[in-house]
Amino acid sequence: MIELKNYVYTFSKDNKPIAFAKEGEEVIFHTLDCFCQQIRSEDDKIEELDFSKANPATGPLYIEGARPGDVLAVEILDVEVAKSGVMATFKGLGALHKNCETRTKILKVEDGQIYFNDISFPAVPMIGVIGCAGDGEPVQTSDSFSGGGNMDSRIITKGVTVYLPVRVPGALLAMGDVHAAMGDGEVCETGVEIDATIRVKTRIIRDFDLRWPITETDDFWFVNTTGKNCDVAIQYGYEEMQRLIMNAYGWDATDACMYLSAQARLESNQACLNPHEKDEEGDTFRVGVPKLKSKPPIIPEG
Ligand code: CA
Ligand code: CA
Repeated sequence: MIELKNYVYTFSKDNKPIAFAKEGEEVIFHTLDCFCQQIRSEDDKIEELDFSKANPATGPLYIEGARPGDVLAVEILDVEVAKSGVMATFKGLGALHKNCETRTKILKVEDGQIYFNDISFPAVPMIGVIGCAGDGEPVQTSDSFSGGGNMDSRIITKGVTVYLPVRVPGALLAMGDVHAAMGDGEVCETGVEIDATIRVKTRIIRDFDLRWPITETDDFWFVNTTGKNCDVAIQYGYEEMQRLIMNAYGWDATDACMYLSAQARLESNQACLNPHEKDEEGDTFRVGVPKLKSKPPIIPEG
């Protein structure tokens, strides 16, 4: 079994692969929390962190045979988390920063429950950062782009398949930033940040035009998009889902629009509402449609 323990801080065509895997081969990614283990107590000060070590992604993994123009399907077989996680609020960041202090909280995670103050709630481990390298300038693992990255979708969890556009030979897959739990929006900029072990296997879909990452659940397809603000991210998501529906169902743009208007889901991944100038740094959304037995899948099986 291939096990990966090296980290990168960019999605870049210039990152050297640390391992090579075949399609269908199971691979384990050992991941660090988004603070790169710099916070181990509630006294550790956020202000003193080295933010050049934010959001480490484990990898990159070279998938043999993956070529630009393909799509990499990454089946999430399991996500196991450590026994404690970290939440933090930051001065000046997030939609509620005006009435929040800077604070660090260490949360115990045990038997599938997360202990918060005088309550507990279920752990639902999800992968915040997952992507393949782009063919342009490097993208920070703290950012999100059309190749994936810091999408922070709480539904990227055990049992789903994530489809990522391949832009460089071998795809160069990396992932990290697991949360034991995260709410839609991740309003204070952190979920329950935690070390984890992720087990995946991959499949290559040849020559398919995919422009943003997709998450496939038991019942739905979701496209994940990022924009400098919510409006921009949502617009990209609607447009890509419309295009995929037209392609798979043989409908024109207007019918695809009407269908989305009747059946789409629109959910936030990360929506902290900070002002941003670049799309990569902004908010992320997912636009979903139900899987239909009477129609082909919106991404071919490969
Ligand atoms: Ca994140
Ligand atoms: Ca995070």
